[in-house]
Amino acid sequence: MRFTELISSRNLKFKILLAFSVILVIPLAIIMFLSLNKTTRVARHDFNLRLGYAATLFRKALEDQLDSVKIKTKKVADFEFYSLATRNFPASETGELMETELIRSDLDYVAAVVERNEILVDRGSPPLDSLGKIIPAMCHSPLNVNLYIIGQEPWIFSAAMITKLRSEKPYHVVFAQRLPRDFSDKLKRLTGAEFSLLFAGRRILTSQMDIYGKRMIGTAPENPDISEGSVQILGKSHYFVRDEALPGKISDSIRLEIALPDSEYNTLGRSIRQDFIFFGMLGLILALITGTVLSWHIAKPVNLLAESSSKVASGDLSLDLHMNRKDEIGTLFANFSEMVTRLKAEQELKERRMKELNTLFEISSAVNLFVDSEELLKFVLTHSIEVLEAERGSIMLLDDKTDELVVKVASGGRFRIASGTPVKLGHGICGLVAKDGLGRICNEGFKDPKFRNFGSILPVEDIKSLLCSPLRFKEGTIGVINIVNKRNENNFNDSDLSLLNLIASQAAVTIENNKLYELSITDGLTRLFVHRYFQARLSEELLRARRYGLTLSLIMFDIDNFKSFNDTYGHQVGDQVLQKVATCIKETIRTGIDIPCRYGGEEMSVILPETRSEEAFQTAERIRENIAALSVAHSSGPLSVTVSIGIASYPNDCHDKESLIKVADRALYASKSKGKNCSTLAAEIKQA
Ligand code: GH3
Ligand code: MG
Ligand code: MG
Repeated sequence: MRFTELISSRNLKFKILLAFSVILVIPLAIIMFLSLNKTTRVARHDFNLRLGYAATLFRKALEDQLDSVKIKTKKVADFEFYSLATRNFPASETGELMETELIRSDLDYVAAVVERNEILVDRGSPPLDSLGKIIPAMCHSPLNVNLYIIGQEPWIFSAAMITKLRSEKPYHVVFAQRLPRDFSDKLKRLTGAEFSLLFAGRRILTSQMDIYGKRMIGTAPENPDISEGSVQILGKSHYFVRDEALPGKISDSIRLEIALPDSEYNTLGRSIRQDFIFFGMLGLILALITGTVLSWHIAKPVNLLAESSSKVASGDLSLDLHMNRKDEIGTLFANFSEMVTRLKAEQELKERRMKELNTLFEISSAVNLFVDSEELLKFVLTHSIEVLEAERGSIMLLDDKTDELVVKVASGGRFRIASGTPVKLGHGICGLVAKDGLGRICNEGFKDPKFRNFGSILPVEDIKSLLCSPLRFKEGTIGVINIVNKRNENNFNDSDLSLLNLIASQAAVTIENNKLYELSITDGLTRLFVHRYFQARLSEELLRARRYGLTLSLIMFDIDNFKSFNDTYGHQVGDQVLQKVATCIKETIRTGIDIPCRYGGEEMSVILPETRSEEAFQTAERIRENIAALSVAHSSGPLSVTVSIGIASYPNDCHDKESLIKVADRALYASKSKGKNCSTLAAEIKQA
């Protein structure tokens, strides 16, 4: 993950970790950098001081050594040798003086030179191989003192001319001194530095000893060409610097090497760096631990809350959030949980209300759906059981004549309730509800002292909880609605009862309205639908048939010779016959599908939706035979009637309602003409 991604990351955990790392590690790194910088500067300064001091001391000492030889040479030339020269260098005196001088001035070689190259007299151990070159060079040179490397050894040469001598040839005095091997040892003790003079890539003078205590003269230094760097001397870290030994004062290119042991500041710097690395790592680990702890304590619950709130926002309320903490986060969780619980409760309430409203709406609209009151009662009951989450139930209506409750419909559960014994007002729970007009909850079920078993075939032990509401219309009670056993072993509560009361009052109105409607479309004598309803339903069914390409048949009946029947046996007997014929028609046709109507007088009709003429003919014949088989008891013996029938079908015999009725009517008259008590298809008369 790149840094920018980390910063823009939506994950709080990373941000906390990052913040802690940055807060702790960056300042630590800055402090470390500044401190190290400071110690490095101090170390450098300290080193330069010590180096400068050591170099100055060495150069001064070397210069002093050269000067002292030079001064001695000059003094001897000006005084002692001058008097000898004036006396032409008597051999014994000259030699004696030279030997005295050799010892007194700590020299290695003394010579008197004529004409710059001819050695007159000399004493000491001369570096013979180079003498022939050095002495003339010294006598010519404006430099009257110089350092030469002869073999592997540094030699100081000094020459002085014997002046004031009135001679044609110049005379010189030459002094030579080997630089002592321990020349720089005192300086080493004083400064702690190692001094070496380098010539032609070798040490010709040095204070450095090897591990055996042997002076490292003649050894070649490492990397002789570089002018400064680090080196290990006897296992200790040193820093060396190389430069000209005595610039402008000696002719050979001799270099001075000074090696200083690492300054205390460098050691300090190293230790500081190590400390800082240690503390840096420690800081980083601490930052990570702190960040992790914080993210565990803050980021994790916040993440959880964020995820949960997203779920809630998307409508998922099935959360189970628990955080056993007493701090603000705990409060946040508790409040959030509480909010979700409330929201859930409100949503459940809303859903319940919606369900209730839907149920009420459906019940109130049911009056338009069901012509049959039993169907309507079943519908009301099923919806009540569903919305109250119960197992089963029943609706009992009050019989006007006996003032007893009779079960009209029962549904749900494993058993169908047998119609049972009628219940008197005030008896049992339903009787009490019907009497008082007040709904009741009975969560003890059959164990309730008021509970009675009215000969139901259901085992009473099966009734665990019961809800009963009166069906009230205007001032009176027309029945009760019983809801049995709340699902999942739950009990009914007050809100269930209020809902059932609401449903019951709406249902009562619907049932009463339905009764009125039923009355308005039913013929009082025959209990068949009235003519107006016939016309409306026929239009409706034709429309449906036309729309969906279905067939539709119409059967028309007319009782044969009914006028004379009436005349013979009286109108009342005629009415009885009419009732019997109507019942016979109703019983022969498909209940709930075919529509039986009283067309007018003793003429009846049946609308048969989705039925072809052949099938209609069969039905008609069956009805005709059943009617012919009827008998009405009469003092003069059993009476019977016959009917003539006409059958027409859509779309074969007609194209609209009027023509359908007309064609069926014509078929009916054809039956009359044929001799009555027979059925005629419209198709037959068309062909004829
Ligand atoms: P047809 O065989 O040609 O049908 O002879 P019909 O005597 O039945 O003649 P029609 O169909 O014209 O007779 C109608 C008679 O039906 C007149 C009336 O006396 C009788 N009627 C009509 N409505 C009722 C009723 O509600 N009750 C009784 N008892 N008779 C009715
Ligand atoms: Mg008639
Ligand atoms: Mg008739």
